[in-house]
Amino acid sequence: MMKQMEELVKLLNKYAHEYYVLDNPTVSDKEYDALYDRLVELEKQTGVILFNSPTKRVGGEPISAFKKHRHLERLYSLDKATEFEQIKAFDKRIRKEYNEEIVYTVEYKFDGLTICLTYDQGMFVRATTRGNGVEGEDVTAQVLTVKSFPLTIDFKGKIEVQGEAIMRLSVLDEYNKTADEPLKNARNAVAGAIRNLDPKVTEKRRVEIMFYNVNYIENGEIASQAECVKFLRNNGFKVHPFFKICNGISDVMSAVKDIEINRKSLDILTDGAVIKVNDFNLRNILGSTDKFPRWAIAFKFEAEEVTTILKDVIWQVGRTGKLTPLGLLEPTELAGATVRKATLNNYGDLMRKGVKKGARVLVRRSNEVIPEILGTTEIYSHCEDIVKPIACPYCNTELVEIGANLFCPNNNCRQRVVAKLVNFASKNGVDIEGFSEKTAALLFDKFSVRNFSDLYRLDREAVRGLEGYKDAKTENLITAIEQSKTVSFANFIYALGIENVGRKTAKDLSERFSVLDNLMRATKADLLTIDDVGDVVADCIVQYFASEENKLEIDKLLSLGVKINYQTQKKEGAFSGERVVLTGSLHDFKRDEAGKIIEELGGEILSSVSKKTTLVIAGEGAGSKLDKARALNIKIIDEDTFKLLIKS
Ligand code: NAD
Repeated sequence: MMKQMEELVKLLNKYAHEYYVLDNPTVSDKEYDALYDRLVELEKQTGVILFNSPTKRVGGEPISAFKKHRHLERLYSLDKATEFEQIKAFDKRIRKEYNEEIVYTVEYKFDGLTICLTYDQGMFVRATTRGNGVEGEDVTAQVLTVKSFPLTIDFKGKIEVQGEAIMRLSVLDEYNKTADEPLKNARNAVAGAIRNLDPKVTEKRRVEIMFYNVNYIENGEIASQAECVKFLRNNGFKVHPFFKICNGISDVMSAVKDIEINRKSLDILTDGAVIKVNDFNLRNILGSTDKFPRWAIAFKFEAEEVTTILKDVIWQVGRTGKLTPLGLLEPTELAGATVRKATLNNYGDLMRKGVKKGARVLVRRSNEVIPEILGTTEIYSHCEDIVKPIACPYCNTELVEIGANLFCPNNNCRQRVVAKLVNFASKNGVDIEGFSEKTAALLFDKFSVRNFSDLYRLDREAVRGLEGYKDAKTENLITAIEQSKTVSFANFIYALGIENVGRKTAKDLSERFSVLDNLMRATKADLLTIDDVGDVVADCIVQYFASEENKLEIDKLLSLGVKINYQTQKKEGAFSGERVVLTGSLHDFKRDEAGKIIEELGGEILSSVSKKTTLVIAGEGAGSKLDKARALNIKIIDEDTFKLLIKS
């Protein structure tokens, strides 16, 4: 057992060094936590804690390249729970000391880098990392590139406040689109940004800080977490609007459940919820261990990232001929499912992520989307390079390279046609019920179906002759194809499978151009008047309708009886004629819920503020969009007014 403990300590210390000091972990938190929990268990069983055990320490040592700063008050880590039972046990322990219903607060647990800011006489003095809890690194120059924290505050005494530096997920996505080496996840990205000797690097990553704690306050009286949050807000610190005060542990549970649902639509990486005793007097009674306070606990959600071995890469061909590399993984459990495959987006992405066959890669699975390989964590000597394909793996046609992508240029490539037909027949397209990849492949092979219009020329008797197609199955397919002939304009546009035109763009196009002729004649300049349509998308649309072949295919579809239904009523209501941007967090609605309500009431949702915007609904924490709306003199309303408008 001792030997196992020594090995675990050695391994965990190596991982902690990579994570805290190098900002470049080689294993996921899930794997680290599993080893850590095992060590805790062994320490309990043996009653021995090795002198260098990570269970005794907070975080990592400050690196010498930065000046050190001794925090005025120690910064702690948090005890963690992964089961509701553990939260109940936490509550029970507290109620042993204090036999009444406890008031707790519940906040998001931001997965970023802890930052501690010192102020004196109302002025910002210094920013430091948590480091080992006692001493952190002075990262003042780096933090000064963060635009959203106050340099002067109303409180004039000496004070240290704590928050989490974060990089928004949308900012990370944007950054990764052009970065030479993509950043693996938002946590590493922000840690690497702040603990970087060059503040210009920090600036580029557009870091923000979410504050949640007053760690030290001179002669100041703050009696509870609720007061603490209010104090932070009043002094100009950004506090996330989600902050729940809960009476008793069952309220806590439901707040935690809310977070579990809401966090999926959040633009910030969270790995859990933090539950804190609200009353500071009680906190003092409860005290702390060496590592964490006894009055708080972090509930950690199921991890969404894990590392595993990349066994091979295969190439999929989509409807536009684009090749997508798909990583075949050593199967691994992640967020309640076994993950065997993960996407690498495109050839350029694969190169930038430096993946090799046999390498250890970091995989992320967030709900609904297919898992993605975020990057490589370890390369071994036996790893092999991934060979760039020169010919289409399905039809052997020589590939064409455009930007970061490889394309199969063969319009009749079986795989490509199948993908195109499946997209055409999908729910968002003409909606042919029951039409699958298998159906498309069969029709391709047996009846040379190459174009959409070929589907409307299928012969019932011939279909009946297909293996497995008895009467009922044939009737179902023929009826479904017949029924698909009446289609809304947006669905028709989507069905065409124009590159980069998904559901949202198809809907925008249908609304902007009203009828097909107008869309087919639209110039690039016309298309660019749509908010979410940029150069690339506009070019794809213009090119699509410039092709004689495509125009002929549309004619054929219409002459075979496909009828575009333009009758989709414009909704009327409180937001008729309004072009609305939602920003910040609303308390009582999720963003897409609010969007739906506005659309139902005749409004149009835009994603960014521009001169075309007529109304901005600003929730808590609204930032740059709100500033822009003010600068452009656009009408701004808050959540309460929004509610009144809905009622009206
Ligand atoms: P932690 O990050 O899990 O939790 C404590 C920290 O949460 C606090 O110090 C604070 O900075 C932060 N926090 C975020 N939101 C907060 C809020 N609203 N209120 C209070 N605090 C909030 O603990 P830790 O000690 O920083 O790190 C331990 C974790 O780091 C491990 O569980 C593991 O997941 C990860 N780790 C991973 C590796 C690896 O190799 N992958 C190595 C070491 C550590």
